Amino acid sequence: METIKRTKVIDILQSEAYDTIVNVKGWVRTHRDSKAVHFIAINDGSTIKNVQVVADTDRFNADLFKQITTGACLSVNGKLTKSPGAGQASEIQATEIEVLGTCPSDYPMQKKGQTFEYMRQHAHLRLRTNTFGAVFRIRHNMAIAIHKYFHEHGFFYFHTPIITASDCEGAGEMFQVTTKNLYDLKKDENGKIDYSDDFFGKMTSLTVSGQLEGELAATALGSIYSFGPTFRAENSNTPRHLAEFWMIEPEVAFIDLNGLMDLEEDFIKYCIRWALDNCKDDLEFLNKMIDKSLLERLNSVVAEDFVRLPYTEGIRILEEAVNNGHKFEFPVSWGMDLASEHERYLVEHHFKKPVIMTDYPKEIKAFYMKLNEDGKTVQGTDVLFPQIGEIIGGSVREEDYNKLQEQIEVRDIPMKDMWWYLDTRKFGSCPHGGFGLGFERLILFVTGMQNIRDVIPFPRTPKTAEF
Ligand code: ATP
Ligand code: MN
Repeated sequence: METIKRTKVIDILQSEAYDTIVNVKGWVRTHRDSKAVHFIAINDGSTIKNVQVVADTDRFNADLFKQITTGACLSVNGKLTKSPGAGQASEIQATEIEVLGTCPSDYPMQKKGQTFEYMRQHAHLRLRTNTFGAVFRIRHNMAIAIHKYFHEHGFFYFHTPIITASDCEGAGEMFQVTTKNLYDLKKDENGKIDYSDDFFGKMTSLTVSGQLEGELAATALGSIYSFGPTFRAENSNTPRHLAEFWMIEPEVAFIDLNGLMDLEEDFIKYCIRWALDNCKDDLEFLNKMIDKSLLERLNSVVAEDFVRLPYTEGIRILEEAVNNGHKFEFPVSWGMDLASEHERYLVEHHFKKPVIMTDYPKEIKAFYMKLNEDGKTVQGTDVLFPQIGEIIGGSVREEDYNKLQEQIEVRDIPMKDMWWYLDTRKFGSCPHGGFGLGFERLILFVTGMQNIRDVIPFPRTPKTAEF
């Protein structure tokens, strides 16, 4: 076969260099034939669209056509021609076809309409389907949008550690990192594990958040963000939780609550607008096949102002709903943590748009959130999205050394290894704040997919770490 430089399908479909000989490589999506010609749809992952290869039956040998099954990998040379058929501008009139990899009939992705559950069990091959191709092209684009947004707004990409010795966000939820022999653990007189001979000489874990280190950077570089893997050993088997996920965590000096909410809203709208502008074909596919209201929902989130709702006002709305006969599973009262049914009521039923909830009771939020003058509430902000629930959790941070110290003591947080964090409040403390956006929750929203396991290539959840 003649060696011709490969052209990607995405470029073939836009090319008007008719009558030139091109080479395309990719996997067979469909193969059908009329007596005189065979039509082979090839996809190479560069776009959701296939290129149509037209092969004259008498030009090629019958055995070759038998090998061209769904999933087989081909290299095709042929003449780029203007397509007479509707739906595509150009097609390839094959002159040479080479089968790079045959695909036997037990190919797991052969049948259309498999369940997502089935696809997850074949996560190594689901990438070759239209749906997962679309999802992961969009995932890539969202990562680009995130870096672009922050770079354009003067934020520095800052790498926070993945292995950490701080467990301030709740020790029970962390995966431990150790090189100790688990069959022969040395314990002290109280039966506690002795880590002095472990790799780091102390107990270490995989990070649940880069925020604390992000604060160190924001109080030096001004505006930073991290974007990296995050680990939580919480046993939540929900369509919204992963044990390993990616989090985007900007942290900004000299920002107040309103500034923080502006940033959250502007950032998230930028990302969604980026998807609408740069992922048209994939979004149209998902809108047709997965969720018929996807594009409408994306457009409306970009167009509308988010509701800004103090927690106390949110509780009042929920109580009013209860008084009007609305049934919640969990009772509503000031001081409670909102359950997902309450969040959904506010976002999907009451306001019908994204809600940024603020000023939560201090008891249900983390120790580092800035205390309001009322002494009861803190300057936390959660962004609640339709279908998703919480997509962002953030806050203005407590910059007052004594108030922060008090919250640490009230909560009995073991801070002996965290002297460095308190130093930010001791030396040149400054008002600052930031938030964490779960990357996969954003991808869920943008793709219309229902389960977070279907927007990360190889999901890690309780009892699942395949591939
Ligand atoms: P949730 O209440 O939904 O469990 P959280 O309050 O524990 O979330 P934060 O600690 O505020 O979450 O983390 C910031 C963001 O990270 C969340 O708003 C969410 O988008 C994302 N996130 C948190 N936990 C997970 C998880 N287990 N899997 C995927 N994303 C997550
Ligand atoms: Mn949260």
